[in-house]
Amino acid sequence: MSHMEHQEKLNQLSAPLLRWYDEHRRHLPWREEVSAYRTWVSEIMLQQTRVSAVIPYFQRFMAAFPTVQDLADADPEQLMKLWEGLGYYSRARNLQKAAQVIVAQYGGQFPDSYEKLLTLPGIGDYTAGAIASIAFQQRVPAVDGNVLRVAARMTGSRLDILDTKNRKLFRDAMAEAMPQERCGAYNQALMDLGAMVCLPNGAPLCEECPAQTFCQASALGCQRELPVRQKKKARRVEKKTVFLLLRGGEVALRQRPDEGLLAGLWEYPHVEGILDESAAATQVAQWGLTPHQWIKTISFKHEFTHIRWEMRGYILQIRGDGPTDWIWADAETRRQRAVPSAFEKLTREIEENGSVIL
Ligand code: SF4
Repeated sequence: MSHMEHQEKLNQLSAPLLRWYDEHRRHLPWREEVSAYRTWVSEIMLQQTRVSAVIPYFQRFMAAFPTVQDLADADPEQLMKLWEGLGYYSRARNLQKAAQVIVAQYGGQFPDSYEKLLTLPGIGDYTAGAIASIAFQQRVPAVDGNVLRVAARMTGSRLDILDTKNRKLFRDAMAEAMPQERCGAYNQALMDLGAMVCLPNGAPLCEECPAQTFCQASALGCQRELPVRQKKKARRVEKKTVFLLLRGGEVALRQRPDEGLLAGLWEYPHVEGILDESAAATQVAQWGLTPHQWIKTISFKHEFTHIRWEMRGYILQIRGDGPTDWIWADAETRRQRAVPSAFEKLTREIEENGSVIL
């Protein structure tokens, strides 16, 4: 198919898609009461995270920080705590940074154009498009993986959607295909179609799709082959030994550096590599601690976007104080500190067996 034929297919979409949306749209808290602030927070939370997981976080977040000003002024520790479990913590830090810019440069009023939104920390093309179209009815697309999938299938395109050049081609075509009115509804309809009908894994539900009569992939039966993506590189594996060091009712925590992965969050002390029990005992001694009782050893892992941590966790009662930059947290203090979900397995050991362990 030629470029023009691709464009014609996309141009046909808006009317049937909007009719479908009016009947089938998802009812989500950030859609019931629309503002740029609420759209923004929801879109940032939804990056890499399922809608059902986001909803309770969104509601707690809005209760704690109902306005941009509240978010700008928030205690970073409380912010991280509210984000705990959602992962990708730089999103939360960028939210606050951007809120501070909005307060300083725009007097707390959300910038109302795609171009200005793009200048804010953590706001890229997709999020700027989503806010500008949903909150300000600007005619700009919001193209993410879901939308690329729908567009590639509808046009039958075999361009690699992970290639930046191709993504730009799709984005331009989607921009041209947008209706003159109801731009926010159109972008949300595409998101819903991608999430509910033109599904990423397994068969899409073409018989429920408003685009079926003119969809190229459906006509050719090649839905499962599209979109084309080049193979992902394998994640880099890092091995770690993590220590859940207990001292009476307290557990050792230390703060991660201000920069890099999981910056500024709290963690259980750990070292690189997988240590056997005797090497682990030597490490504990190097921290100036004396093991009193070895309770449990567990293996667990955590996947980040580009890295996989494979970890062995030792849970033990110790005596001593350890390095000066550690804190010894009782249950209350620990709950106030944001410990990343990478260590959740160990945190759960305390939560579930607290009375035995502590
Ligand atoms: S008809 Fe099927 S493949 Fe085509 S856009 Fe709809 S759900 Fe996706």
